[in-house]
Amino acid sequence: MTRRKLIAGNWKMNGLKADGIALATAVAEKYKALEDKKFDMFIAPPFTILDAVADAAKNSGVWVGAQDCSQFEKGAHTGDVSPLMLKDLGCGGVIVGHSERRADHFETNELVNAKATAALAADLGVIICVGETLAEREAGKTLDVVGAQVRGSVPLNATAGKVVIAYEPVWAIGTGKIPTTAEVEEVHAFIRSELAKLLGQDIADKMQILYGGSVKPSNAAELLSLSDVDGALVGGASLKADDFWAIAETVK
Ligand code: PEP
Repeated sequence: MTRRKLIAGNWKMNGLKADGIALATAVAEKYKALEDKKFDMFIAPPFTILDAVADAAKNSGVWVGAQDCSQFEKGAHTGDVSPLMLKDLGCGGVIVGHSERRADHFETNELVNAKATAALAADLGVIICVGETLAEREAGKTLDVVGAQVRGSVPLNATAGKVVIAYEPVWAIGTGKIPTTAEVEEVHAFIRSELAKLLGQDIADKMQILYGGSVKPSNAAELLSLSDVDGALVGGASLKADDFWAIAETVK
Protein backbone atom coordinates (compact mmCIF):
# COMPACT_ATOMS: atom_id res chain seq x y z
CA MET A 1 0.00 0.00 0.00
CA THR A 2 1.54 3.32 -1.01
CA ARG A 3 0.38 6.27 0.98
CA ARG A 4 1.17 9.84 0.01
CA LYS A 5 3.56 11.56 2.41
CA LEU A 6 2.53 14.59 4.47
CA ILE A 7 5.07 17.09 5.78
CA ALA A 8 3.45 19.13 8.54
CA GLY A 9 4.88 22.06 10.47
CA ASN A 10 3.73 23.00 13.96
CA TRP A 11 4.93 26.53 14.69
CA LYS A 12 3.67 26.36 18.30
CA MET A 13 3.59 29.77 20.05
CA ASN A 14 6.09 31.35 17.66
CA GLY A 15 5.73 34.05 15.10
CA LEU A 16 4.50 37.61 14.96
CA LYS A 17 2.68 38.66 11.83
CA ALA A 18 5.64 39.77 9.69
CA ASP A 19 7.75 36.68 10.52
CA GLY A 20 4.82 34.38 9.91
CA ILE A 21 3.98 35.89 6.56
CA ALA A 22 7.65 35.73 5.49
CA LEU A 23 7.98 32.09 6.55
CA ALA A 24 4.69 31.03 4.97
CA THR A 25 5.49 32.92 1.76
CA ALA A 26 8.90 31.24 1.48
CA VAL A 27 7.43 27.77 1.98
CA ALA A 28 4.42 28.44 -0.28
CA GLU A 29 6.61 29.73 -3.12
CA LYS A 30 8.82 26.66 -3.01
CA TYR A 31 5.85 24.30 -2.92
CA LYS A 32 4.02 26.10 -5.70
CA ALA A 33 7.10 26.00 -7.93
CA LEU A 34 7.53 22.25 -7.42
CA GLU A 35 6.64 20.40 -10.61
CA ASP A 36 6.35 16.93 -9.14
CA LYS A 37 4.54 17.34 -5.83
CA LYS A 38 5.44 14.04 -4.20
CA PHE A 39 4.16 15.15 -0.78
CA ASP A 40 1.43 17.27 0.78
CA MET A 41 2.43 20.14 2.99
CA PHE A 42 0.65 21.55 6.05
CA ILE A 43 1.59 24.45 8.31
CA ALA A 44 0.00 25.32 11.65
CA PRO A 45 0.80 28.86 12.80
CA PRO A 46 -0.59 30.39 16.00
CA PHE A 47 -4.27 31.46 15.95
CA THR A 48 -3.35 35.14 15.86
CA ILE A 49 -1.72 34.96 12.43
CA LEU A 50 -3.78 32.18 10.84
CA ASP A 51 -5.63 34.63 8.65
CA ALA A 52 -2.46 36.31 7.39
CA VAL A 53 -0.68 32.99 6.87
CA ALA A 54 -3.67 31.46 5.06
CA ASP A 55 -3.61 34.49 2.80
CA ALA A 56 0.15 34.18 2.19
CA ALA A 57 -0.22 30.49 1.27
CA LYS A 58 -3.36 30.96 -0.85
CA ASN A 59 -3.32 29.08 -4.18
CA SER A 60 0.05 27.47 -3.39
CA GLY A 61 -1.33 24.06 -2.46
CA VAL A 62 0.09 24.35 1.08
CA TRP A 63 -2.59 23.38 3.57
CA VAL A 64 -2.91 25.82 6.52
CA GLY A 65 -4.48 24.93 9.84
CA ALA A 66 -4.59 25.49 13.57
CA GLN A 67 -2.80 23.84 16.49
CA ASP A 68 -5.95 23.23 18.51
CA CYS A 69 -9.69 23.89 18.47
CA SER A 70 -12.67 23.86 20.80
CA GLN A 71 -14.90 20.82 21.04
CA PHE A 72 -17.86 23.22 20.87
CA GLU A 73 -19.40 24.83 17.82
CA LYS A 74 -20.05 28.21 19.45
CA GLY A 75 -21.28 29.85 22.64
CA ALA A 76 -20.08 30.77 26.11
CA HIS A 77 -16.51 29.41 25.95
CA THR A 78 -14.29 32.40 26.59
CA GLY A 79 -10.96 32.29 24.82
CA ASP A 80 -11.77 29.21 22.74
CA VAL A 81 -11.82 28.99 18.95
CA SER A 82 -14.33 26.70 17.26
CA PRO A 83 -13.71 24.49 14.23
CA LEU A 84 -16.35 26.49 12.35
CA MET A 85 -14.36 29.66 12.97
CA LEU A 86 -11.25 27.96 11.61
CA LYS A 87 -13.13 26.81 8.55
CA ASP A 88 -14.40 30.34 8.08
CA LEU A 89 -10.80 31.63 8.13
CA GLY A 90 -9.85 29.32 5.29
CA CYS A 91 -8.19 26.61 7.38
CA GLY A 92 -8.03 23.13 5.91
CA GLY A 93 -7.27 21.33 9.13
CA VAL A 94 -6.33 21.30 12.78
CA ILE A 95 -3.92 19.47 15.08
CA VAL A 96 -5.52 18.01 18.21
CA GLY A 97 -4.10 16.19 21.21
CA HIS A 98 -0.55 17.53 20.93
CA SER A 99 1.37 16.43 24.02
CA GLU A 100 1.87 20.07 25.02
CA ARG A 101 -1.95 20.50 25.06
CA ARG A 102 -2.36 17.21 26.91
CA ALA A 103 0.24 18.29 29.52
CA ASP A 104 -0.33 22.06 29.82
CA HIS A 105 -4.13 21.96 29.54
CA PHE A 106 -4.83 18.53 31.04
CA GLU A 107 -6.44 17.32 27.83
CA THR A 108 -7.72 13.77 28.11
CA ASN A 109 -8.31 11.25 25.32
CA GLU A 110 -12.04 11.93 25.67
CA LEU A 111 -11.53 15.65 25.13
CA VAL A 112 -9.20 15.08 22.20
CA ASN A 113 -11.82 12.78 20.68
CA ALA A 114 -14.52 15.45 21.16
CA LYS A 115 -12.30 18.06 19.51
CA ALA A 116 -11.53 15.75 16.58
CA THR A 117 -15.24 14.96 16.23
CA ALA A 118 -16.13 18.66 16.19
CA ALA A 119 -13.41 19.38 13.64
CA LEU A 120 -14.65 16.59 11.35
CA ALA A 121 -18.20 17.93 11.66
CA ALA A 122 -16.89 21.29 10.43
CA ASP A 123 -15.26 19.50 7.49
CA LEU A 124 -11.69 20.11 8.65
CA GLY A 125 -8.88 17.61 8.28
CA VAL A 126 -7.54 16.48 11.67
CA ILE A 127 -4.08 15.47 12.84
CA ILE A 128 -4.45 13.53 16.10
CA CYS A 129 -1.26 13.29 18.18
CA VAL A 130 -0.31 10.41 20.44
CA GLY A 131 2.92 9.49 22.20
CA GLU A 132 4.43 8.22 25.42
CA THR A 133 6.50 10.06 28.03
CA LEU A 134 10.04 8.98 28.91
CA ALA A 135 8.85 7.44 32.17
CA GLU A 136 6.23 5.43 30.29
CA ARG A 137 8.79 4.21 27.74
CA GLU A 138 11.28 3.27 30.47
CA ALA A 139 8.54 1.38 32.29
CA GLY A 140 7.86 -0.64 29.12
CA LYS A 141 4.41 0.90 28.76
CA THR A 142 4.77 2.56 25.35
CA LEU A 143 2.34 0.35 23.47
CA ASP A 144 -0.20 0.36 26.31
CA VAL A 145 -0.18 4.15 26.46
CA VAL A 146 -0.21 4.73 22.72
CA GLY A 147 -2.90 2.06 22.22
CA ALA A 148 -5.14 3.68 24.83
CA GLN A 149 -4.59 7.09 23.23
CA VAL A 150 -5.49 5.80 19.77
CA ARG A 151 -8.60 3.97 21.02
CA GLY A 152 -9.67 6.93 23.13
CA SER A 153 -8.80 9.86 20.87
CA VAL A 154 -9.74 8.71 17.38
CA PRO A 155 -13.43 9.18 16.50
CA LEU A 156 -15.17 6.11 15.10
CA ASN A 157 -16.21 8.06 12.01
CA ALA A 158 -12.57 8.86 11.15
CA THR A 159 -11.68 8.27 7.52
CA ALA A 160 -8.28 8.12 5.88
CA GLY A 161 -8.92 11.22 3.78
CA LYS A 162 -9.77 13.34 6.79
CA VAL A 163 -7.77 12.01 9.74
CA VAL A 164 -4.01 11.64 10.15
CA ILE A 165 -2.29 10.20 13.23
CA ALA A 166 0.99 11.68 14.48
CA TYR A 167 3.16 9.50 16.71
CA GLU A 168 5.22 11.89 18.79
CA PRO A 169 7.17 10.41 21.71
CA VAL A 170 7.00 13.22 24.29
CA TRP A 171 10.66 12.72 25.20
CA ALA A 172 11.71 13.30 21.59
CA ILE A 173 9.91 16.63 21.19
CA GLY A 174 12.34 19.53 21.13
CA THR A 175 15.11 17.46 22.74
CA GLY A 176 17.20 16.33 19.78
CA LYS A 177 16.64 12.71 20.88
CA ILE A 178 14.85 10.31 18.60
CA PRO A 179 13.81 6.69 18.98
CA THR A 180 15.71 4.04 17.05
CA THR A 181 14.32 3.17 13.65
CA ALA A 182 13.18 -0.19 15.06
CA GLU A 183 11.28 1.59 17.85
CA VAL A 184 9.59 3.94 15.38
CA GLU A 185 8.63 1.03 13.13
CA GLU A 186 7.29 -0.97 16.05
CA VAL A 187 5.02 1.83 17.28
CA HIS A 188 3.80 2.83 13.80
CA ALA A 189 2.91 -0.78 12.93
CA PHE A 190 1.17 -1.11 16.30
CA ILE A 191 -0.84 2.10 15.70
CA ARG A 192 -1.94 0.77 12.34
CA SER A 193 -3.05 -2.49 13.90
CA GLU A 194 -5.05 -0.57 16.54
CA LEU A 195 -6.62 1.55 13.79
CA ALA A 196 -7.60 -1.63 11.95
CA LYS A 197 -9.42 -2.90 15.05
CA LEU A 198 -11.12 0.45 15.54
CA LEU A 199 -11.95 1.53 12.00
CA GLY A 200 -11.43 -1.54 9.81
CA GLN A 201 -8.44 -2.76 7.84
CA ASP A 202 -9.20 -0.76 4.72
CA ILE A 203 -9.24 2.62 6.50
CA ALA A 204 -6.21 1.64 8.60
CA ASP A 205 -4.23 0.71 5.50
CA LYS A 206 -4.94 4.09 3.93
CA MET A 207 -4.55 6.34 6.98
CA GLN A 208 -1.33 8.36 7.16
CA ILE A 209 0.74 7.99 10.33
CA LEU A 210 3.33 10.73 10.80
CA TYR A 211 6.39 10.61 13.02
CA GLY A 212 7.14 13.71 15.10
CA GLY A 213 9.91 14.56 17.55
CA SER A 214 13.22 16.24 16.68
CA VAL A 215 12.87 15.67 12.94
CA LYS A 216 15.68 17.54 11.19
CA PRO A 217 17.14 17.65 7.68
CA SER A 218 19.88 15.27 8.90
CA ASN A 219 17.54 12.49 10.12
CA ALA A 220 14.46 12.99 7.92
CA ALA A 221 15.48 10.73 5.02
CA GLU A 222 15.93 7.72 7.27
CA LEU A 223 12.73 8.33 9.26
CA LEU A 224 10.66 8.93 6.14
CA SER A 225 11.94 5.77 4.50
CA LEU A 226 10.54 3.52 7.25
CA SER A 227 7.52 1.40 6.54
CA ASP A 228 4.36 2.84 8.11
CA VAL A 229 5.94 6.31 8.40
CA ASP A 230 3.85 8.45 6.08
CA GLY A 231 5.32 11.83 6.79
CA ALA A 232 6.56 14.05 9.58
CA LEU A 233 5.14 16.48 12.09
CA VAL A 234 7.92 19.01 12.58
CA GLY A 235 8.18 21.57 15.37
CA GLY A 236 11.42 23.53 15.74
CA ALA A 237 12.75 22.85 12.24
CA SER A 238 9.51 24.11 10.67
CA LEU A 239 10.38 27.62 11.82
CA LYS A 240 13.17 27.90 9.26
CA ALA A 241 11.94 27.68 5.68
CA ASP A 242 15.20 26.12 4.47
CA ASP A 243 15.22 23.40 7.13
CA PHE A 244 11.54 22.62 6.69
CA TRP A 245 12.03 22.44 2.94
CA ALA A 246 15.15 20.28 3.29
CA ILE A 247 13.09 17.81 5.35
CA ALA A 248 10.34 17.74 2.72
CA GLU A 249 12.87 17.24 -0.06
CA THR A 250 13.96 13.93 1.46
CA VAL A 251 10.61 12.43 0.43
CA LYS A 252 11.35 9.87 -2.27
C1 PEP B 1 6.16 18.97 17.82
O1 PEP B 1 6.05 19.79 18.71
O2 PEP B 1 5.16 18.52 17.27
C2 PEP B 1 7.51 18.56 17.46
C3 PEP B 1 7.64 17.44 16.82
O3 PEP B 1 8.55 19.37 17.86
P1 PEP B 1 10.12 19.21 17.47
O4 PEP B 1 10.17 18.90 16.00
O5 PEP B 1 10.69 20.55 17.77
O6 PEP B 1 10.66 18.12 18.29
